Amino acid sequence: MHHPSILSILLISITFTTITSAAYKPEIRSDAASLWKGATDYGNIVHEIPAGVAYPSSERDVVELIRASGEAFTVAARGRGHSVGGQAMARGGVVVDMAALGREKKGRIRIDVEGMYADVGGEQLWVDVLREAVAQGVAPVSWTDYVYLSVGGTLSNAGISGQAFMHGPQISNVVELDVVTGKGEFMTCSRTRNPELFFGVLGGLGQFGIITRARIILDKAPTRVKWAKLLYSDFTTFTRDQEHLISNNASNYVEGFIVTNENAASDWTSSSPSRKAEVAALLKKQGVLYSIELVKYYDNDTAATIDQEFDTLLKELKYMSGYNATTDASFVEFINRLGDLDNGTPPLPSHPWLNLFIPKSSVVEFNAGVLAGMLPKLNDPKLNETFGIFIFYPFNRNKWDDRMTAVVPDEEVFYTLAALHTAPQDGYKSIDEFNNEILGFCKSKGLKVKQYLPNIKSKKEWMDHFGTKWETVEKRKAMFDPNNILSPGQRIFN
Ligand code: FAD
Repeated sequence: MHHPSILSILLISITFTTITSAAYKPEIRSDAASLWKGATDYGNIVHEIPAGVAYPSSERDVVELIRASGEAFTVAARGRGHSVGGQAMARGGVVVDMAALGREKKGRIRIDVEGMYADVGGEQLWVDVLREAVAQGVAPVSWTDYVYLSVGGTLSNAGISGQAFMHGPQISNVVELDVVTGKGEFMTCSRTRNPELFFGVLGGLGQFGIITRARIILDKAPTRVKWAKLLYSDFTTFTRDQEHLISNNASNYVEGFIVTNENAASDWTSSSPSRKAEVAALLKKQGVLYSIELVKYYDNDTAATIDQEFDTLLKELKYMSGYNATTDASFVEFINRLGDLDNGTPPLPSHPWLNLFIPKSSVVEFNAGVLAGMLPKLNDPKLNETFGIFIFYPFNRNKWDDRMTAVVPDEEVFYTLAALHTAPQDGYKSIDEFNNEILGFCKSKGLKVKQYLPNIKSKKEWMDHFGTKWETVEKRKAMFDPNNILSPGQRIFN
C-alpha cells in the first residue's frame, strides 16, 4: 500500500490553503472521512491522499473549481470509485465527488421516449438509468456486467459487456455530451459539434474533461430473457461457437468464462454426481474448461415462440452434451444480476485485476500460455487468490469508432480476458506478479494485446499502449487540458 509521507502531508496542507483561498466558493472538505473516501477505490491497493474533496451542486461549481485550480492543483472526477489502481485519485489535489451533482439536483435522468434517448448526469449510476428507462418501456442497448458504476466512469473507459458484439461498447451508443474541459470551459459536443472533444472524452480516461451529461441511445426494452450457460472442454470448439454467435445476431448477449476449478462448474454439476466426477477428471487432465453464457430477449409479442427459437439457437452449438443450464429471468433481473458489490465490512479485500484485449489471431497461443497454461495455478493457496472470475468473450471491431480515445487491437475480431482477482488486503502482491507474468508472456511471444482499464505506470508504456493514437492524445491534451490537471491518477501526463 502507498502510505503518505510526512512531506506529502505537509505539501497537501499547503495546497489545501491555496485551494480554499482561491476564488472557488463551492464546498471542499478536508475532514478525515472525506479524504479517505477520495483515497480509496474498489482495488484497495493504491491510496493517494487528496488535499480536499469537492462536492459540487451544479456544473457551474465544476467550472469554477477547474478555473480556480489554474496550475496549482490537480482535479480528479470520482464517479463510483470502482477503478482498481487509483485512477480516480489525485494526490495532494482535489477529488470531485461526482455523486454530489445528483444529490443536490433532482431530475438528472430524463427519458425521451419519442426521441429514443436519455439525457443522464455523468454522476448517475447505470442501475438508476436502467430503472427509470424500463419504467417507460425503453432501455439503453449496451451495458456493463455490473451496473453500480457511474455513466461518466464507464464512458471514460468504454463500457463493455455481452451486448457489445451487436451494438458496440457504451461509448458507441452516446450521441452528445456536456463536458467541462481542463481549461474550465463548459462545452456541448457530438460527432459534428466540437468533435475533437467528443471523440477525445469517449474512452479518454478522464484526461480531457469532466462529463456532466451524456445523451444515451435507447431502444424498446424487452421484458424477459432466456439465459443459458453451456460448458465446453475444447478451446477451438468454444471460440468457434462464440464467433458464430457474434456473427449472426440470433442472440442478444454473448459472453464466456474460463472454468479453473470444480466450484466454478457448479451450475452444471451440483445435482449430478456423475457429471461432477467427469468435470473433475477433465480439470485434472487439461487444467481448464470453458463456458459460453448467452441470452435471448423476449416480450409478450414473442413469448409464444421463444422456447422454440432458443432451442434452435442451442442446437447449432457444440457444447458438451447435457451441460446446459438454462433459466428464465426478467430483463431487469438479468441486467442487474450482480447487485451492488460495495457493501463489504473491513478488512476489505484487494482486487488486483488485469483486463486485456487479445486479437483473434493470437487466441490459440494465448489459451495455451495463459488460460490453460497459467490460470489453473491460481488454485495454489500460496498465490493468495481468495476468489477469481475469468471472463473471456469476443467483439466485432467494426462496432468501435477508431476516432475515440479507447484502444483496441487492430483486427476485425478480438477477445477480452477479464482476470477479476480477489485477494486479502495485504496479499495482492503475488497476484500482481502473476498478472505481470501474463503480460510478460504476451510480450515474449509478440502477441499484440492491449490493456482495458489500463493500469500503466510509465510514459513509455503509455506511448506503446496508444500506439498510433499517441499523437492525437497529446494534441487533445494540449487543446483541452494544457496544464495537465485532470485525472492524474491515470499517470499518463503526471
Ligand atoms: P471511477 O473509478 O470513479 O473513475 C474512473 C476514471 O474515470 C477516473 O480516471 C476518473 O477520474 C474518471 N471519471 C469518473 N467520472 C468521470 C466523469 N464524469 N467525467 C470524466 N471522467 C470521469 N467495466 C466494463 O466495461 N464492463 C464491466 O462489465 C465492468 N464490470 C465491473 C465490475 C466491477 C465490480 C467493477 C469494480 C468494475 C467493473 N468495470 C467494468 C470497470 C468500470 O467500468 C470502470 O472501473 C469504471 O471506471 C468505473 O466507473 P466509476 O464510476 O467507478 O469510475
